[in-house]
Amino acid sequence: MQKNDIVEVDIIDLSHEGQGIAKVEGLVFFVDNALPGERIQMRVLKRTSKIGFGKVEAYLKFSDQRYQGLDLAYLRSGIADLGHLSYDEQLVFKRQQVLKNLYKIAGITDIEVAQTLGMAHPIAYRNKAAIPVRRLNGQVETGFFRKHSHDLIPMEDFYIQHKEIDALVLFVRDLLRQYDLKPYDEVEQTGLIRHLVVRRGHYTGELMLVFVTTRPKLFRIEQIIAKIIAAFPNVVSIIQNINDQKTNKIMSSNFRLLYGKETITDQMLGNDYAISPESFYQVNTEMAEKLYQIAISFSELTADDVVIDAYSGIGTIGLSFAKQVKAVYGVDIVDSAIEDAQKNAERNGITNVQYVTDSAENAMAKWSKEGLKPSVIIVDPPRKGLTESFIKASVAMAPQKITYISCNPATMARDVKYYAELGYQLKKVQPVDLFPQTHHVECVVLLERK
Ligand code: SAH
Repeated sequence: MQKNDIVEVDIIDLSHEGQGIAKVEGLVFFVDNALPGERIQMRVLKRTSKIGFGKVEAYLKFSDQRYQGLDLAYLRSGIADLGHLSYDEQLVFKRQQVLKNLYKIAGITDIEVAQTLGMAHPIAYRNKAAIPVRRLNGQVETGFFRKHSHDLIPMEDFYIQHKEIDALVLFVRDLLRQYDLKPYDEVEQTGLIRHLVVRRGHYTGELMLVFVTTRPKLFRIEQIIAKIIAAFPNVVSIIQNINDQKTNKIMSSNFRLLYGKETITDQMLGNDYAISPESFYQVNTEMAEKLYQIAISFSELTADDVVIDAYSGIGTIGLSFAKQVKAVYGVDIVDSAIEDAQKNAERNGITNVQYVTDSAENAMAKWSKEGLKPSVIIVDPPRKGLTESFIKASVAMAPQKITYISCNPATMARDVKYYAELGYQLKKVQPVDLFPQTHHVECVVLLERK
């Protein structure tokens, strides 16, 4: 079999990234936009001695679980890389991912994994957008990059973003056209406007707009601002971020306020939060609240509990239950997140929390030395999961419960295996759909000391 050959294949499974899997002559092929149960004519794009990549030439049989209404641009851009699968099946897929990883990596089969908690309306949920601005056929366009590329696909309806964010992006795109502000050209390293970043408070409806630009000078910006706030009165913050580097990082650390406030406010589980352009803030507020509630209920918190909130971000988890427990200790590696967490505690009249900026590993070692004995440790690490040194330090503190919020079931399973070896048993597993229409899997697990 060679590149450009066309073969008839059955799709037998979905990869963890949502690609269809076919087996041909002992090779595993990955195919975009193909679902289990489908039969296709596949063009071979690439093959090695072990795996290959293919492309659908024609569908010979569709899956009954295929959602036919999806605009293919969403699949091509990766915005909704599972959007072609019915929502019910997306939830099944996510639970399967958790089960599979626990079985394959941790060797655990005797645990009940709950059904994935899904959304009633699984679209238009994102409270944040980072939209590239480029020139296409002579015209300023906003949209999304084609997967694994920086080719802009123009887009007006972003499907999973709050509709008001879409509307603001379009309005600003039209102003950029009207005022002839030049979009960034990555190849030539010319132009001015690189990205529009928008954040929206889920409960407050407050909007923040960030112009990411290559240079400080923004021609006729006062007139542009006046038009934006006239059309969108809930825009309470307009900020410029100056990023003159040739980098994939969207924003630099150079911010200047153009209009209104430095932050927007929002609520989660009854607390108020100030959110700055660079704060980590869960993008799906409705489901993040449910996620936190599950973590809190798994932890069975009481007034005597001393809790560590590791990987705290701006404090949203720990502050949600701080008033119900004795004390909360939070740590995050990002200084501005910890500053926000401290302000957020104050803003909500919470006085029994202590935050440090440090790596979670270091903070654990220090707290341990100081004799801190938490009864519960809650962790919410990034995709790479925990480190061995973190796990050892947490076990040395001998908490009754460790509640693990994970955005990557593979590293979660690896860590659960290590915890099991050190005497912590997996008790509960609840997948939660924080990112409908995408392959991303989030779950909460409870570990208890034997
Ligand atoms: N619990 C928060 C944030 C979770 S995201 C929330 O729900 O909003 C993961 C967080 O881990 C980020 O804030 C990131 O800054 C932080 N982080 C990443 N590596 C870290 C490390 N080694 N030590 C401590 N924090 C880390």
